[in-house]
Amino acid sequence: MSPGSSRPDGQTDLPDHMIGYWRDNNDPATANWPDPRSQVDATWDPKERKRVIRYLKSGAKYAGSFGYSRCRFKCGIPDWKMGKYDLTDGTFVWPEGYPHYLLVHHVKPPERFLHHVRQRLASRPVARVLRFISNLLRRPGKTARGS
Ligand SMILES: [Zn+2]
Repeated sequence: MSPGSSRPDGQTDLPDHMIGYWRDNNDPATANWPDPRSQVDATWDPKERKRVIRYLKSGAKYAGSFGYSRCRFKCGIPDWKMGKYDLTDGTFVWPEGYPHYLLVHHVKPPERFLHHVRQRLASRPVARVLRFISNLLRRPGKTARGS
């Protein structure tokens, strides 16, 4: 990609690490943010979708709340179910209600985020094994009995 070319996931002035934040017609500051309708992809692999939803739900609470969010598709889900917090994995930040868009409205997150999640999930078992081994090595003489 040459410098200055637009990103494949659409141009927006939303910071790169923020996903699932949408344009609000009542708020001019969000005028260049994405519209969730432009990110619907019904052909997205349902298995990956499930994994990503689980990943999003496992995020840590990132920041306080600006009040409950509402579903932009106006599907009737109560606002309180959409949540009011921002979640993070240490790299990306998303609203608590983001998984709802994936689950119910087939919104597909930007490829840069999917790539990140795939890498994270792939490296997890390796990290677990390394932790196990380092714990074994650190255990102080558990096998030596007697005094
Ligand atoms: Zn909805």
